[in-house]
Amino acid sequence: MAYDDSSRWCQGSCMGWARRRMAGYREDVAAYEAVLARYRERLADPSTKPSTLRKPAAPEPPRIIPVLGDPIYCQACTHAVKAKLARLDVAAAIAARESDGMRGTTTEAKVRSTPGPASPSPTIDELEDLEGWLRSWKAAYLGADEVARLGSLMDAITYGTAWLVHRAERILRHRQMAVPFAEETLAWYARLDRYDPTDVTVQRMPLRCPGCKRFSLERRGGEDVVRCRTIGCVRGESISMDQYTAMVEQQAMAAKAATKTRTVVRPPRPRTPAAETEHQKVEP
Ligand SMILES: [Zn+2]
Ligand SMILES: [Zn+2]
Repeated sequence: MAYDDSSRWCQGSCMGWARRRMAGYREDVAAYEAVLARYRERLADPSTKPSTLRKPAAPEPPRIIPVLGDPIYCQACTHAVKAKLARLDVAAAIAARESDGMRGTTTEAKVRSTPGPASPSPTIDELEDLEGWLRSWKAAYLGADEVARLGSLMDAITYGTAWLVHRAERILRHRQMAVPFAEETLAWYARLDRYDPTDVTVQRMPLRCPGCKRFSLERRGGEDVVRCRTIGCVRGESISMDQYTAMVEQQAMAAKAATKTRTVVRPPRPRTPAAETEHQKVEP
């Protein structure tokens, strides 16, 4: 196969580097052809001494061992798109849980109940868009103008995702649908990936939740809030790191006051001086 028969390459990310190389090569060829044309013009000019001319060198084509599409995407890229499609459901559920005003209805205001620096959160509108997008692909697959939403927003997202995951491999082999479907899936995943639990490091926090009193507080990678895992625990929905640090300090003070109690305080960073002196060895 010719090195540049890129129409048969996998259209996925596995050949992204090769497409970039080819694009660079085509630019080099265009520049070379311009230089070559000038060279030939000057060569044809009788007033030019041939010894003053040097023939330009053609650029080397990149060496590419292509991964072919089957027929459009390779297996690895097909599975990568399908996996991300499947994870949209979980990411959407977590986004919904973190978005205040989302209590099974779709019309409430998108207002965060907690003041302070709000972490970016997809709104209900975004989840509505996602659900509409899932349905638009179901309709495209069925050749229908549109299909109706089934159930509540979150149920419809779960259902719509599962429906498409089940058919993803067929869609990704379809000449017209494959590329837009894959690209839109990846774009949706990029919008929601910060809510994908498989992509996020979760730090279990050592203090009990002030709401439900369980060891259920956690902090997700990069966030400056601590949240309680207990469903329905309103008090633990969003605790800022400042508040959490104050809780740690408070508990460390209490532990110090009540000497030789069995309260174990495992302070998170930044450690408080009180906690540091008493519990140096329990810092994870
Ligand atoms: Zn591929
Ligand atoms: Zn709680």
